[in-house]
Amino acid sequence: MPIDKSKLLNKMRGGPAPKKPEQPKPPTEKPKPEVVATEKVTALCGHTLDFAHFSEKQDKFREARRKKLTDKPCPDCRAKANAERVAVEKVAIAERKKNRPPKQQYSSIKIERLPHGSTFAFEPFDLPNLLWKGTLTIVCPPPGVAIDLSLFPVTFSSQNTAFFRLATILDRQWRRWFEDHLPAEKVEDSEKIPLDTETGTN
Ligand SMILES: [Zn+2]
Repeated sequence: MPIDKSKLLNKMRGGPAPKKPEQPKPPTEKPKPEVVATEKVTALCGHTLDFAHFSEKQDKFREARRKKLTDKPCPDCRAKANAERVAVEKVAIAERKKNRPPKQQYSSIKIERLPHGSTFAFEPFDLPNLLWKGTLTIVCPPPGVAIDLSLFPVTFSSQNTAFFRLATILDRQWRRWFEDHLPAEKVEDSEKIPLDTETGTN
């Protein structure tokens, strides 16, 4: 291990030694040796890059350094590829958001309790696969909401590693379905049912 000069100097001055023993710095953080020559090398993308040579004594890893440059695309191409990847991800995220009703809609739903007679049913826990499977069956619309009765009963099914999460997912599936099937005309405020977003999970 190389002698830690700052530690040694501190000791000589009687000052406190640094708390952490200094790690030998990775090669990239070392001050770069003097460039004695520049070679043109071709990166994986086909672009030409400048490759610096240091004096023989300070350049034991020249081959490895060159390989590092030529084995991957140039920094510009990598930055470009990265930006494109980020852009594609952004579009995908925006797309997913667009296809999903915004969260706000859930808080404005007119029903807050599951309708009378709603049933959760769960399969025995599948430990090897860490899975809970279950269904939520809704037998009728909430009172005061004119959804076509012939659509009922409606059953939602899902699976999750967490039991309470599964119940919540089923509950949300119903709420989403309910929103999609809400009649255009508004439900009277007087017909609203008290809010309880955790319905069915307790
Ligand atoms: Zn390139």
